Parts: sequence; C-alpha cells; structure tokens
Amino acid sequence: MYTESVFLRELTQNVTILKGAGPSTIRALANLGIHNVADLLLHLPRDYEDRTQLVPLSRFSEGKVYTAARVIGHDWFGFGRMRTLKIIIADESSEAALLCFNRPFLEQLAPIGSIIQVYGKFQFKYGEIQSSSFEIKRIEGGLIPESELSPVYPLTEKLNQTSVRKLVAIALDKFASHLEDELPAPLREAREFPRKYEAIREIHFPSSWEQVKRAHDALAYEELFYFQLGIALRVRSRRAKKIERRPCPGVLASRLRERLPYSLTSDQDSVLAQILDDMRKPYPMARLMQGDVGSGKTIVALLAALYAVERGGQVAIMAPTELLARQHATIAAHLVEPLGVRLAFVTGAVSNAARPPLLAALQSGNIDIAIGTHALFSEDVVFKNLELVVIDEQQRFGVLQRIALYRKGHIPDLLMMTATPIPRSLALTFFGDLQVSTIEHLPPGRKPVVTHLAREDRRASVYDFVRQRLAEGRQAYFVYPVISGSDKHDLRDAESMANHLAKEVFPEYKIGLLHSRLNDETKMEVMARFASGELSILVATTVVEVGVDVPNATVMVVEHAERFGLSGLHQLRGRIGRGVHQGYCFLVYSKELSEEGRDRLKALYNTADGFAIAEEDLKIRGPGDMLGIEQSGELRLAIADMRKDFELLKLARHDAFGIIERDPALNEPEHAVIAQVLARANPFSEK
Ligand code: ADP
Ligand code: MG
Repeated sequence: MYTESVFLRELTQNVTILKGAGPSTIRALANLGIHNVADLLLHLPRDYEDRTQLVPLSRFSEGKVYTAARVIGHDWFGFGRMRTLKIIIADESSEAALLCFNRPFLEQLAPIGSIIQVYGKFQFKYGEIQSSSFEIKRIEGGLIPESELSPVYPLTEKLNQTSVRKLVAIALDKFASHLEDELPAPLREAREFPRKYEAIREIHFPSSWEQVKRAHDALAYEELFYFQLGIALRVRSRRAKKIERRPCPGVLASRLRERLPYSLTSDQDSVLAQILDDMRKPYPMARLMQGDVGSGKTIVALLAALYAVERGGQVAIMAPTELLARQHATIAAHLVEPLGVRLAFVTGAVSNAARPPLLAALQSGNIDIAIGTHALFSEDVVFKNLELVVIDEQQRFGVLQRIALYRKGHIPDLLMMTATPIPRSLALTFFGDLQVSTIEHLPPGRKPVVTHLAREDRRASVYDFVRQRLAEGRQAYFVYPVISGSDKHDLRDAESMANHLAKEVFPEYKIGLLHSRLNDETKMEVMARFASGELSILVATTVVEVGVDVPNATVMVVEHAERFGLSGLHQLRGRIGRGVHQGYCFLVYSKELSEEGRDRLKALYNTADGFAIAEEDLKIRGPGDMLGIEQSGELRLAIADMRKDFELLKLARHDAFGIIERDPALNEPEHAVIAQVLARANPFSEK
C-alpha cells in the first residue's frame, strides 16, 4: 500500500509488483509502451461495454443487447468448411439468431434449453433479428446488470481484456487514492472537475457515460492546461524582451503603394495595420498571416519590410524553395529596388566566389532586405541589425528551422505566412504563441476556379478542353505525382508525360518540364520561359505547389489526383485563377478509387474555401501529419483530442493565460501545485 501522496506520473514502480503480472504479460505490456504503474493507469480505454442496463432483443436498435435468453434451437447452414452454426434464442421480448462464424464449439456451450447471457450488436436482416458479433455465457439464475461499464483497452498479442482490466483494477486499488491533484484547487473547483484520483478511477471503471465524460474532461483539461501554460510562459518570456523602437513615418511604404497597379484590399490594409501595430510594441512581434492562395500576402509582407528598413533595420525573407525565393526576389527587385532599397539573394546555390562579399555586405549592413531559402540562417550568415524575419509558406518549414531562427541571438520581429489555413484548434496549440491575422477575401475580380473530377478514361476530352484554352492564348499546367517511371508503380510520371504530350498530344505547342531533380538554373530558366508565355504548357510535379504566380496559366490537369493530400491539391489549384481569365482545374482519378480517395476529391470539388479544406484535411490526416511534425513530439497529447475537445482547449487556454496575466511570477499560494508540477519535470511541457 502506498502512503505518501504522489503525482500520477511519479508512479514509476515496475508493474511486476502487481499480482498477476507474469513475465509474458510484462513483455506484452511493454509492447504497448507500458513499463510502470503510471503507464498502466494512463493506458486509457478506447471504448466501454455497457452492461449496466438490460436491453432486451426487441430493443436491439437502441444499442447493444444485454439480456438473458433461452436457447430454443440449433441450425446449420452452408456446406463443407463453410458450414456454420446458427443458435436460435428467445428472451421475453423476442426471438433472434446468433450466427456462429468460426465458432462451432458454441454448440456445446449453449445446448438447447439452456439459459445464456447475451451481449452483442444485433440487426434486422433476412427477416430475423440476428447477430454475428456477440458474447455469450451460460448462467444459472437471472441476469444482474453490472454496476460499472467495462473498459475496452487497446491490446496487443498475448494480452486480453480481462488481464488488463484486472491489472488496472489492482493498480487503482493500491495507488489511486494517493494521487495528488495536479490542477490548482480553486481552478478545479471553479470548473467543477473531479479530483485526480476520482477522474483516474472513473475513466477506467465508470458507472455511467456521464462519468466517462466527466473523467475524460477532467484529465483532458489538465493536459491542455499545462500545454497552454507552457505556451503562456513562452509568450511571457518573449514579452519580457524589451526593444527600443525607432519612429518610422512610412515614407518608403507610401512610395511603394503609389507604384502598385492596384490598391490594397481592406483585408490587406487591416492585416498590415495589425503588423505595424506589433512592430511598434516594446517586445518582438510573433504573428502568423494566413490567407488563401492568391490572397496577396506578399505585398503586405513587403510593405511591412519597408517599415523595418526605413527605421534602419534589416529584413530577412525566407521561402521554402529556391524557386519561390527567386520569385520573391524578382518581385521585390521590381517593386522596391527603384526606391533605393538594397536587396540580396541568399540561397545554398550562391557560388563560392560570390559568397564572401555577400556575407560581408549583410554583416556591415549594406543590404536592407535579404531574400532566400533557409540558407539565410546558416551559421556563417551574420546580420548587422536583423529586425524583421518573414517566413513564407511556413508550414513547409520544419520545427527545427523555426527554432534555429530564435537562436540567432537577439529575437527579431517574426512574421510567418501560410496559405494553408490553420484550423482553429491548431492555431491555439501548435501556433498558440502566435498572433493570427487573416486575409479573408481575395482581391476583387477573381473568379473561383471551376473544378472538374474526371475519370482517367475521360482523359481525351480533358485534352480537348485544354487545347481550346491554349488556342485562346492561355497556358496550362500538367501535374504528376512522380518524376520518372519505375517498375514499382504504374503511375504516369512527369518525364514521360512531358515527352508524350509534346510529341503526340500538343505537337503545335512548346512544353517545359519542371521537377525537383533539375538543377536550380534549369528550374529558373523553365519558370522564366513559362512566365513569359514562351512555353504554353508546364509539366511538373508538386514543385509548383507553393507560390508560383503566372496569371495567364488558367488550366491545370492533375493526374492521379487521389494520391495528393487535400491541402496540397488546394495549393496546386491555387496556381490558376490568378488573373482575369476563368480558371479550370481537372482532377483526373483512376478507375480504382478508394472510398476515402473519393471523399477527398469530393471535398475539393465541393468547396474552394481553404479553411473548410484544412479542417477536412486535419480530420483525415491528424495534426502531426498535416504539419509534417509527426516526429517532433510537439503535439503529443495523450488524452485530449484538439479537435473534439476544442471547447476544453479554449477553456484551458483562457485559464492558463489568465493565471500568467494576473500573476506573471506565479507567486500566489494557489499556484503552488503548478510550481510543483513544473518543478518535477513537467510531463506536459513543450520542448
Ligand atoms: P499569396 O497570398 O498566395 O502569396 P500573392 O502575394 O502571390 O498571393 O498574390 C497573388 C497575386 O495577386 C499577385 O499577382 C499579386 O500581384 C496580386 N495582388 C495582390 N494584392 C492585390 C490587390 N489588392 N489587388 C489586385 N491584385 C493583387
Ligand atoms: Mg505566396
């Protein structure tokens, strides 16, 4: 028996101390990641079996049947090895059939005339109430409802429900009553959550579904609370960094605005205002600008950059690919160089000879805006006075690169941009320390892209359609999932299709090929020829996914569309419909389309709303995969589900930030528990 009170995670005793945990069970538990008592108590049921109420056969449609029935007949159907037993049963309400696939032995266990306990899912089929997924047990007397729900745990080989339930029950008996609360009592009371030991007990053996929810909410809230507290602490420490801001009237920015062939939309204006507001605060900005593809984020970032430059700072603008960095550099050269702003282009491809003078210019402050890839943040790049960092298409950058940035000594203003709208739940967790600005509406005059789903055998008519657009002077993208052919798959690939399209399908037009294996010079050259209109067709892989901007290209054909992620397809589609002409996107799918693949394509067909698509993507892929951070552990929530527990997430965030705001040093006595948890290697902290 345990006498001292402990935090749950501190129950590090080996499970061997539990009666019944023999060597083979221990090994099986280890396979599930269960090494000690804490792991065991945190091995949460994935579901529950409810035998707390009797549900007679006649009420099978209300849920699982739980009843006592008499066996009134045995029947056999099928032949040979397929011969299957059918047990006919009856309770007071109805008759039903149990189909015993692969369970002929039930004939002996449930002889005619015996009374059995039945638990299972029934349906009405072939004129009878029947089940093929049930449990039965012979009983003597009547059936008594159980007082608790039975947990159903995730299992592994050599482990069954009964043994896990038993071990958990022993662990609960021995240890649970000594579990210390890990939430400050006033908070727990205000939110009416049960004590920790109650919650842990209830989540394993609840007496009702309400208790399941109560226990889940308490534990999920606690997890989210500490997660948010970590974020709040990070925000606090950033705000503690004081910067002296020099004034900046915005002369350069006004001059750039005058040079633009359009005026900013009101969304762009208000997002810019929020950014400038941040850039006047005494602590560094950390803001995420989100706006669907084509919403015009680049110009907003450039205007912000001019403010930093005007007051004497340097700006780094980082893009995820050389192609995109080059495009930004071209745009910037066109827009801001005439204003006397000094630009540099920094990528890994900068030649050895050019590098030293470039680095020297950055270090001495002779460059105002450096545009490039992550090479901008390699060891040897030193800025004189880096005041603003802009990261484009930030979802493409690994967490590590984001962190490398912070390591550059003093912390500059940080503006991230993304065209993959961040679902609200992710905005509050993964990006929880960022302020978020959204450009909701595209610039006026854009027509939504018309999307068609085309089965692969309709390809010829797709080609015809493309030909008509080309004849009108438009350009087209053809996108393939792989660069070249292989024995391993029979996918259409960019290389052979470029050849095929050029020779067989569109011999009268010039076609270019773009993929990641080409060297940078070739890539730039191909892009430039496509942008100038010399090439009518660009055959590519997903390298064109981000940022590429050629308004005259109005048609896109994506082959094997079902193989692309939702957000990826949405990004691809964003390459067209950027000019005055109507855009068309053909998603060509194969004849053998899975259910899930079809749902995804349908989602894309049905909506052009990037937010809706991102939510759908999050549902399908989960947050880690969506952000490409599966391994980072940053989002490893054990109990809470950011999406399903969104209301709790908001509550936890509100409470955690509230505490830090009221008492930045966590000095108040009721924060003692927080301090303790933080001190004892807080399991919830973000690394
Ligand atoms: P994204 O947000 O996807 O990065 P871009 O910044 O590349 O979008 O802008 C897409 C296109 O819209 C560019 O050609 C840009 O010049 C144009 N654009 C940006 N703002 C406006 C505006 N207010 N009115 C008209 N066109 C605009
Ligand atoms: Mg962009």
